[in-house]
Amino acid sequence: MTNDQQKLGVALVGLGRYSEGQLGPALTETQHCYLAGVVSGSEEKRRQWQARYDLPGSNLYHYDTLEAMAGNPAIDIVYVVLPNALHAEYVIRAAKAGKHVICEKPMATSVEECRQMIHACREAGVLLSMGYRLHFDPFNKEMMRLGQDEIFGKVKRIVADDSMTIEKEEWRLDGALAGGGPLMNNGVYCVQAALFVTGELPVAIRAEFSPKTRPDLFRTVEEGIQWEMEFASGKKAICESSYSKDGNLLRVTAERGWFELDPAYEYKGLKGRTSQGPMEFPAIRQQAAQLDDFASCVKRSGASRVPGEMGMRDVEIMMAIYESARKGGERVTLHLEAYQDMIEV
Ligand code: NAD
Repeated sequence: MTNDQQKLGVALVGLGRYSEGQLGPALTETQHCYLAGVVSGSEEKRRQWQARYDLPGSNLYHYDTLEAMAGNPAIDIVYVVLPNALHAEYVIRAAKAGKHVICEKPMATSVEECRQMIHACREAGVLLSMGYRLHFDPFNKEMMRLGQDEIFGKVKRIVADDSMTIEKEEWRLDGALAGGGPLMNNGVYCVQAALFVTGELPVAIRAEFSPKTRPDLFRTVEEGIQWEMEFASGKKAICESSYSKDGNLLRVTAERGWFELDPAYEYKGLKGRTSQGPMEFPAIRQQAAQLDDFASCVKRSGASRVPGEMGMRDVEIMMAIYESARKGGERVTLHLEAYQDMIEV
């Protein structure tokens, strides 16, 4: 077992845009972990990463050989950065190889898969965390504080929009790989924001799909979706996520003022304002903070602030959003009492 002074070794599974642009670079800045290895189906990519990050040949794996990591003490944590429908398989395989796991969002494409992932990690005695970077971002943490501590009085209404324009085919538009459209990819941030600002769990959902303006592209996933989340206290969150426009807003209206981020969910360049003036925080690399937090949890055997259960909670909410939209906006009730401890304060 690694002592507290040593950096833990992380292996990235899937070397696409997020690993390349964000996680690889973040792992050169982390204090408690570093990039020790990679898992990819491409020999060329494995070699490129080996050269760029000075990785030993013994820490390069093909998807098919991931199990061999079980005998490699240099890898402590496996970070699954694959298309959504593959998360469950790779999280479970990594857990069975005895590795702690970080899973990218959304956790999986069904609640049942999430349950199996959590079970596999428990059985193997490894920690499971979500790649929820915004929980470590100072602007988003301030939104949690302003909302939950009622700095501007009780929160009344939240407006959240996380949208991005997709112009051409990719796995995010393939329902079988993505599990859904913009809701699964971006909308998860709006769901989380509503929960971490209110400090409450939603009790009901109403949702509607946006009309398809590009049906050739959006054959198996929605092009856009709008939904309302109702909380027992009467608070409401009005949310939207689309692949046919850009949007990046989190706006909260409270009894005695308002506070907002715009952009709210980006990796950097977030801007915050309240009814009393601008928010000022130093820029950080969210992914480095998130990775270091998880590595610290592993070192002290403590639970992550963004555990698998939180990922499952969010998938359960997103499934209810889809159910309501499929039923033409019918009110769908939620019973999330089991997740009461999953609200971050
Ligand atoms: P990407 O398309 O750039 O990369 C996906 C990788 O998976 C590629 O290396 C591809 O070769 C590999 N892959 C393996 N099997 C595949 C298959 N059957 N089909 C397609 N690709 C396959 O995607 P990305 O943007 O890196 O996203 C990967 C994951 O990371 C997704 O779950 C996504 O939601 C998540 N993500 C999270 C954030 C964040 O801010 N937390 C940002 C971007 C992506």
